[in-house]
Amino acid sequence: MIHAQRPLAYMVALDLAGRHCVVLGGGEMAALRVAGLLDAGALVTVVAPALQPTLEQLAAAGGIEWTARAYQPGDLRGAFLALNTSDDAATERSVRIEATVEGVLLNTHDRPASCDFASPALVRRGRLQVAVSTSGDSPYVAAAVRERLDRLIGAEWGSLLALVAGVRRRMRRAKVPATEQQRVYRRLLRPEVRAWLRHQRGGAVGSLLGADVWDMAAPAGRVHLVGAGPGDPGLLTLAARELLFDADVVFHDALVPPGILDLCGARTRLVDVGKRGGGLRTSQDDITTQLVEAARAGLEVVRLKGGDPFVFGRGGEELDALRSAGIATRVVPGVTSALAAPAAADIPVTFRGVSGSVAMVTGRDSDGQLPRDLEAVAAAVDTLVVLMPLAVLPALVARLTPVLGPQWPAAVIAGATTESQTTVRAPLRDIAAAVAAASIAAPATLVLGRVVDCVRPEMLAAAPDHDAIGHHLVGEPR
Ligand code: SAH
Repeated sequence: MIHAQRPLAYMVALDLAGRHCVVLGGGEMAALRVAGLLDAGALVTVVAPALQPTLEQLAAAGGIEWTARAYQPGDLRGAFLALNTSDDAATERSVRIEATVEGVLLNTHDRPASCDFASPALVRRGRLQVAVSTSGDSPYVAAAVRERLDRLIGAEWGSLLALVAGVRRRMRRAKVPATEQQRVYRRLLRPEVRAWLRHQRGGAVGSLLGADVWDMAAPAGRVHLVGAGPGDPGLLTLAARELLFDADVVFHDALVPPGILDLCGARTRLVDVGKRGGGLRTSQDDITTQLVEAARAGLEVVRLKGGDPFVFGRGGEELDALRSAGIATRVVPGVTSALAAPAAADIPVTFRGVSGSVAMVTGRDSDGQLPRDLEAVAAAVDTLVVLMPLAVLPALVARLTPVLGPQWPAAVIAGATTESQTTVRAPLRDIAAAVAAASIAAPATLVLGRVVDCVRPEMLAAAPDHDAIGHHLVGEPR
């Protein structure tokens, strides 16, 4: 049997100003509904034998009309909209009939069958309202979405709306050309304006309000050097997410996965400047030149780098070059794979009594090789993390075996925090062979130290649902 799906709810925002609306019932629900109607400028009549205190005060002060008895047919005459909050079944039927005959829009609390419209779950910030509807399928989901939006949309959005609305009125009066208006809106929607409003820095906002903003010089462009984390979009910082959303252009590494680029705004231009080994690559000078040009054109520029921009990511060089070119540049740290890859494989880089020191090195130092002082670093710390290790694994094993011993615990984590995360554990002596056998692909991170073995492996049978991002333990379980 085919279940015909109910059609979608059609969303509208009603103008109730000066319109006659009737509320049946005088309890708490009625008080809530009346407050909403009065905010919308409606002329409200409440039909109920008795009123709760707020409604009673409103009636006494003349804010609402009160018909002090139970509903009778005829009460909806001339109304635009009616809200039935009483739970009497006979009243419900009779109200439904009158509303249909009189052409009055009706909502009966908790009775979808007696409703022409639903009251959506709302998030309100001043005059800004966000409504959530599930077309009646699940009030629970509607409430859950509403709660999320409530966390996401800060109080400053109400003030921002007021600010933008004021500027809009003035620009229209001054007949500012449409393209110029767009530029002003973009500027007002920059994150720092919301930050000022959030922290109530009246002075900064006042300077925007006081002057004719549309006559101000175009704002200077800026570059944000932003860490994208190891791969899972969930490990992006909130600051990174906001900047991606607001950016005019994002220059990103090849390693940054699509799930993160999907968070960019609809009008954001994406430029892949990934420096792949061999093949097409953008030189570091080219990248810096493009960043400088974009910022000089007045754009909000994000330079998005895998992990943390300053951990073997040449972020320091870019920052220095941008500063020498006089470009305003800010760094937004990210979650580095040097720490996240071990963590995602349940390997703590420090552990009381086992490891009290960590170092990170790269398999491709400035000359493309392992660092010259590799042995000294390995001897000095309890945990050694090696980025870009795959191409140099045999050389690394040969150099470190005399220092750490052939049995020293090692693990390689590839694609950490992504769906393809794979971990290979083996003693130093066997790690290159184990990695080759598992045909692991970059990006991968190597961890050396007793911490590799200090956490008991998970009992997967006892926690079958936990394997959400796919941990594959290859090699010897110890
Ligand atoms: N700035 C980056 C590192 C850039 S060097 C950071 O802080 O993470 C690139 C190296 O990072 C890769 O060769 C690999 O060693 C490591 N890496 C990046 N993403 C990884 C991932 N998802 N899993 C394991 N290692 C990763």
